[in-house]
Amino acid sequence: MCDYTKSIQDLPSSTQERIGKDINTYISSYERKQSVKKCYDRQLSYFAQGKKLPFSEDDFRTAFRAKNFFKDLDDCGSWLEFRHYTDYDKTKLHHGNFCKRDKLCPACAVRRAYKQQNKFMSIIEENPDFLDRDWYYIVIPVRHSIQDKFEDVMALIEKMKKKISMQMRNSRRRGTGGFFSRFDGGMFSIEVTHSTNGWNVHMNLLMNAPKRSTARTARPFGRTDGRNALGGLKEHTQIYKGKKKTTYSSPELSDWLRQFNDSHINSVTPLDFSNKEEIRGNLVEILKYALKFSDLTDQKLIEVFIKTRKKRLFGTLGNLWGKGLENISLDGDEELTGEFIELIFTRTFFVQGIPTDVPTYQLYKREVKKEEVNPILFEHTFGIVVPKIATHKKYYNSAPLIMIPRGGGGNARYAIRKKE
Ligand SMILES: [Zn+2]
Repeated sequence: MCDYTKSIQDLPSSTQERIGKDINTYISSYERKQSVKKCYDRQLSYFAQGKKLPFSEDDFRTAFRAKNFFKDLDDCGSWLEFRHYTDYDKTKLHHGNFCKRDKLCPACAVRRAYKQQNKFMSIIEENPDFLDRDWYYIVIPVRHSIQDKFEDVMALIEKMKKKISMQMRNSRRRGTGGFFSRFDGGMFSIEVTHSTNGWNVHMNLLMNAPKRSTARTARPFGRTDGRNALGGLKEHTQIYKGKKKTTYSSPELSDWLRQFNDSHINSVTPLDFSNKEEIRGNLVEILKYALKFSDLTDQKLIEVFIKTRKKRLFGTLGNLWGKGLENISLDGDEELTGEFIELIFTRTFFVQGIPTDVPTYQLYKREVKKEEVNPILFEHTFGIVVPKIATHKKYYNSAPLIMIPRGGGGNARYAIRKKE
């Protein structure tokens, strides 16, 4: 379907990998969204038939009412500009059009997680005292049954979230206790899946506390003689895929959780923050929450999308608050100076000028030498301007023939032209 590997085979393998991975993400994401769109149409016909659905017609219409909703979803990643900066051996997704609806768009969810991960790494690099703290990865599922509605399970987790931040705040102001009073900050994400036992909603937390040796003794740190400072953790040993696996849970946290529909299960893992790879690995667990939406069926995905409108499924607490992790921009990556190889990826619905139903993917390439960097500036225009094929041929050398329909129409929203 997409013979782009030829165009990039002379680039470093890490660049090929990055570009190949991104392109495949956008292609599969497009396919998934087509299936969600069909499901959306089915819901419309169910309403017309008077069928009872797990959401009201009003809520359904409100959630999808944004102008160009599906057009933006469709156009996400229909045009991507990568740059491989030869001086730095770095590859960046320089520009592109993104729908930014990461609950419905797996590609935007991947991009958000990736950008948040980089942001977090730069935060701890700029504030090295974060490395000198004890970090924990905590997972708390809410107890539920097959009969429970999504909104009821969701309401419990939101209540839990409120109580956690209240406990942390009260501990700072008044020195009151409780499991979460030990932490100075962290971040959380709310993950949703659905299985034979109904809606599984759980909270992932990445929390930090002062190092045991420097712990403020006025705080109720419980037993500090063991391997942890969390008032004692219970060890569980399981055999998982033939390997022995040790997990920990907190009896104190179990007791606290009882107030939420008698929940009690929890997992608390002390992390090694001296190891960058381990930090990245654990971060992914927290940040991939939006990606989990793609495991839901189209119908369930639409239900969650409607019912989590205006709800925060990711946030920061205490000392991680206000450091820019919540409002990550999905726009292009920062521009570097120097020579680069530019690769433009497009999705069109034309083969040699003839409209088709199935998308055609193209990747083409040009090298921008040092002396050209300034005089040749490209401007990417969404909408009206459609360039002549000859203009492209002049600048892109090893590319497959670019097919952009003249006169616009269809999905031809992108254009590349020389800045006058
Ligand atoms: Zn998107």
